[in-house]
Amino acid sequence: MHAFTTTDPASGETLGSYPALSDAALDAALQTAHDAWTRHRQRPLAERADGLRRVADLLEQNADEHAALMTREMGKPLAQAKAEAEKCAWVCRYYAEHSAAFLADEPAETEAEWSGVAFEPLGPVLAIMPWNFPYWQAMRFAAPAVMAGNVGLLKHAENVLGCGDALAQLFHDAGFERGVFQHIIVPVEKVDGIIHDRRVAAVTLTGSERAGRAVGKAAGEALKPCVLELGGSDAFVVLDDADLDRAVEIGVASRTQNNGQSCIAAKRFILHRDIANAFTERFVAAMEALTVGDPTQEATDLGPLAREDLRDGLQDQVSRARAEGAEVLTGGEIPSGEGWYYPPTVLAGVTERMLPFREELFGPVASLTVAEDEADAIRLANATRFGLGGAVFTGDRARGERVARQMASGAVFVNQMTKSHPALPFGGIGASGVGRELARQGIRSFVNQKTIWIE
Ligand code: NAP
Repeated sequence: MHAFTTTDPASGETLGSYPALSDAALDAALQTAHDAWTRHRQRPLAERADGLRRVADLLEQNADEHAALMTREMGKPLAQAKAEAEKCAWVCRYYAEHSAAFLADEPAETEAEWSGVAFEPLGPVLAIMPWNFPYWQAMRFAAPAVMAGNVGLLKHAENVLGCGDALAQLFHDAGFERGVFQHIIVPVEKVDGIIHDRRVAAVTLTGSERAGRAVGKAAGEALKPCVLELGGSDAFVVLDDADLDRAVEIGVASRTQNNGQSCIAAKRFILHRDIANAFTERFVAAMEALTVGDPTQEATDLGPLAREDLRDGLQDQVSRARAEGAEVLTGGEIPSGEGWYYPPTVLAGVTERMLPFREELFGPVASLTVAEDEADAIRLANATRFGLGGAVFTGDRARGERVARQMASGAVFVNQMTKSHPALPFGGIGASGVGRELARQGIRSFVNQKTIWIE
């Protein structure tokens, strides 16, 4: 039987072995999900909300253990892992509190005695998730799904299967029956069949563009709703009137949080020509001042990349960008020693014809591009097929808003890094995906918006 192994990226040490489900066990899991759904959908909203609040309590009470597991399996600094566990508790509480309003009938003015929209659950939803935020990505899907009366089938990334098991256990410990949230360990080749299975109602994927195209194709063939949260190459625009200290500090944090492996990290820094040199000098110094090392140590800013092949891929991208004319101001070389570390790296002189405008750099590599003026900065920000997030820094809020409204992406933040918040929808346009998670929009992604007419 096929088995997956998980590995500590800081040491290369094997952590665990997880056998894939047999075909019979997978079939049983799908049936369990379907049967659980027929009961779960009938439970009062208040009961589902109490369950989610218990999930939140457990996450908070055991945040240290959950954090240690995340750090062991994918290498993010421990403090960031703990913050992730706490953010998961937050999204549970958010949906426990607001779902009654989000799912309340919406009356419509017609000739009927009563007409309007009811929001009904769809059934089991397959959730294919990545390793980079191994708890958050899964909970961002699960909290609204469970409140809406759906049930979840988590297919987690193969390097964070311990996290997947822990998440399923959390829902069980909080009192949900097993079928409400299951972790199914299957190879990627099984995903297509699961999407086509009549017991599965919908699919959501957070991951790469490549995986998004495959899952979107299968969902299209099966005529099932899908949400695709894919990669990004977010612009971080710094205008001539920006507070440079703040822009540098937030720019470094945005590029390097989660060891540089975040979909909404600042990846392309677009610098107004008047501040480009000053920003670059301070930014390089701040990147060089980061502490790279053991992610379990409190002083560490940047741990290892999650897998060796990902580090090799990143190094290859840096080499290709260099061959196209980008200049490496700092970093750019794989260090010796154990663990899959990669140094904070800055590429300068990047133009829109170069790799960082075409590909996502999923690691601590910032690319710097100089813009002639505000209009050129907007043009450069939009010169990519991705459209997930973005940021603009300026001393003038009205100017910031004007630029933000012209940037082509699912979110733009003025004088702040792009981040996710339970009360705001999250998702991309173009190659960054389809659909929205979080907020009112997220819970409505997987419901039957049913018209009812009565006379
Ligand atoms: P990935 O290789 O696409 O993997 C993500 C998940 O998809 C994993 O569970 C993976 O399974 C599965 N998968 C891969 N190929 C598949 C296929 N052909 N069919 C079905 N499932 C498939 O991505 P990753 O390297 O884990 O994550 C990094 C990417 O995710 C980046 O592009 C990042 O920007 C993006 N991301 C986006 C968001 C967002 O909200 N927009 C958030 C976080 C990350 P295996 O592990 O078994 O291969």
